[in-house]
Amino acid sequence: MRVLLVEDDATLGDGLQVGLRREGFAVEWLQDGLAADAALRTERFAALVLDLGLPRLGGLELLKQLRGRADSTPVLLLTARDHVDDRIRGLDGGADDYVVKPVAIGELAARIRALVRRSQGIAGAELAAAGVTLDPGSRLVRAHGEPVDLSPREFAVLQELLLHAGRVLTRQQLESRLYEWDQSLESNAIEVHVHHLRRKLGPGVITTVRGVGYLVPRPERRVDG
Ligand code: CA
Repeated sequence: MRVLLVEDDATLGDGLQVGLRREGFAVEWLQDGLAADAALRTERFAALVLDLGLPRLGGLELLKQLRGRADSTPVLLLTARDHVDDRIRGLDGGADDYVVKPVAIGELAARIRALVRRSQGIAGAELAAAGVTLDPGSRLVRAHGEPVDLSPREFAVLQELLLHAGRVLTRQQLESRLYEWDQSLESNAIEVHVHHLRRKLGPGVITTVRGVGYLVPRPERRVDG
């Protein structure tokens, strides 16, 4: 799951970036509003973690422009404890949730996971399809009830496929959602992860759509809309 973090405070931004990576997110960290706006116009992110007081373009203005072009990327605000008005304006301006600084990383990560789940119309905390369940919080994966040991990258690939179950993801889409801009990756990395996942999960979970990409079947239970 790739998130865009926009925070101009270097110490806080770095701490959040490191913490979210430890929680299994791929993180792009930008420190000014204009750069974030440009990134959001060209790239897709699972969620946006947004500070309000930013140089060059403020968080509320960035949010207004994002929603103005009907971009529904989930947005979580970073706000100061005593700035209630900011939170009200942010939520009314299209943000989905907020956390108060100083930020507890575990809570921030859980809130991001909840927002992403909701944005994908998934009701429960667990992602499930084809006899496989994945709990994004505990990072526990089971195939037909048996725990499965996955590498962080394999976990990330499976999580993306389950989040978009019933839809084909291309190799490029998987790459862009998993990897960060500054990370070089082997051209066949996704194929290798899928190969290992198939071996660990068994047949019938990940289907190759020749020339297009990969999919897992639609989950058993889903909320419409
Ligand atoms: Ca700031």
